[in-house]
Amino acid sequence: MRAMVVTKAGAPLSLEERDVPEPAAGQVRLRVHACGVCHGDVAMWQGIFPYKGFATYPRVPGHEVAGVVEAVGDGVSEHAAGDRVGVPWLFDSCGQCRSCRRGDGVYCKDTHVTGVTHDGGFQDHMIAPAHSVAKLPDGVPFEEAGPLMCAGLTVFNGLKEGNYRAGDRVAVIGLGGLGHVGVLYAAAMGARVAVISSHKDKAAEAERLGAELFIDSSQEDVAVALQAWGGADVILNTAPSAKVVTQAFPGLAQRGTCVVLGASPEMIEVKPGALLNGNRKLTGSTTGGPEDIRRALDFAAHNGIHPSLTRFGLDDAQAALEAHLNGTLTGRAVVLTE
Ligand SMILES: [Zn+2]
Ligand SMILES: [Zn+2]
Repeated sequence: MRAMVVTKAGAPLSLEERDVPEPAAGQVRLRVHACGVCHGDVAMWQGIFPYKGFATYPRVPGHEVAGVVEAVGDGVSEHAAGDRVGVPWLFDSCGQCRSCRRGDGVYCKDTHVTGVTHDGGFQDHMIAPAHSVAKLPDGVPFEEAGPLMCAGLTVFNGLKEGNYRAGDRVAVIGLGGLGHVGVLYAAAMGARVAVISSHKDKAAEAERLGAELFIDSSQEDVAVALQAWGGADVILNTAPSAKVVTQAFPGLAQRGTCVVLGASPEMIEVKPGALLNGNRKLTGSTTGGPEDIRRALDFAAHNGIHPSLTRFGLDDAQAALEAHLNGTLTGRAVVLTE
C-alpha cells in the first residue's frame, strides 16, 4: 500500500510502499478514502506543533480521515467490516486522568494524536483504536466527512463554547478551510453571520456561504464595524492571528464571547474595561470529544453542510500541504486515495 511519510521535520513528503497493517486487539483497520488537510498537518510537517518535540518521525500526517472498516482486532464489538467511519485528531488518551474522565481527552497529558504521534490518513490503509473511531452518517460523502472530523468539529464546538443561541450574531474571523465551515455551521444554526478577513476578494464567497456582512480588516476598524452591526454575540477566530482578535474583541455585544480556534505566538490584548463593561468573555477551544463528533457529523448530515473542497491525489499530498501553507486554497484541501 502507499503511505505518504514525513521522514523528519521540514522534509517533503515521500511516497513509501508499506505492508497493509493488521489490527491488534481493540483496533480497527480502515480503507482510507479521503483525508482533509488541517493546519495541524502543516505544523507537524514543519516540526512546530503542538510544541517542539511532541510530534514523532517518521510520520504519516492526516487527522481528518474518512473510510471504511475492513478488519477488526480481538475484542472489538462496536465496529464491523463495512462500517463507514471517520478518525479524528484525538487518537487515544489515558482514560484515567481528570481531563479524560470529564470527556476532555484532548487535554490529557498522555494524549495521542492522529497523524502527529501515530500514523494518520495520508495512506491507503490505517490503524486506529476502535473506541476513537466515529460512525459516519449515511449520505455524507467521504470527501466531505474528512474535513468535518476536525474543521467541522472545531467550529461546531467553538459555537458551543461561545454559548451560541439561535438568532445570535456570529462574526467569523478568517474564511479559509476552518472559517468557511464556521460560516456554514453558524448560518445553518440560524445565526446572523459576519465575516472578518484581510482579503477583500473573499467578500463574494462570504455572501455565497450565508454571511450578511463582510468586514475588510485591512481597511476598516473591525470593532466599530461590529458595533455598527449591533455587536457580535459570538466571535470565532479561525485565523492564526492574535492581532485581529485584539482588533475585534471590543466589537463584542454585552455578554458576548470571543472563542480562539487558531493558534498564534503573539499576545492578544484586551482592556479590562472591555471585559468588565458588559460581561464579555475571551476563551479558546480545540476539537472535541466523541459525543461532540457525533453531534457535529449528525448536524452536518441533517442540515446540508457541504464544505468547499480542493481535491488532491494521495501522490500529490505535498502540494496540498504547500497550498495550505501558502493560503492559495479554496475551502479545505482533501487528499483522496483513489
Ligand atoms: Zn485539525
Ligand atoms: Zn488522560
